[in-house]
Amino acid sequence: MTKHTTEETTKPMTCPHCGSTNVGKYLYGMPVFSNELMEKTLDGKIIIAGCIVTDDDPGYHCHNCKRDFGKPEY
Ligand SMILES: [Zn+2]
Repeated sequence: MTKHTTEETTKPMTCPHCGSTNVGKYLYGMPVFSNELMEKTLDGKIIIAGCIVTDDDPGYHCHNCKRDFGKPEY
């Protein structure tokens, strides 16, 4: 009955710019805030990007070099 989120099954992302794995995933839309999601946002693994979606949205953000990269998964 538990609905798992996709980031639990994906392998750690590496930044194409600096190679760091200190990467956060942008989450679009209105997430349901669970304790788990809250921890991940505090951890920097998830970045809540909100509902504003354009054609140019990045999928990930590198906390090391502060750059965005990738494509979001819808
Ligand atoms: Zn980087």
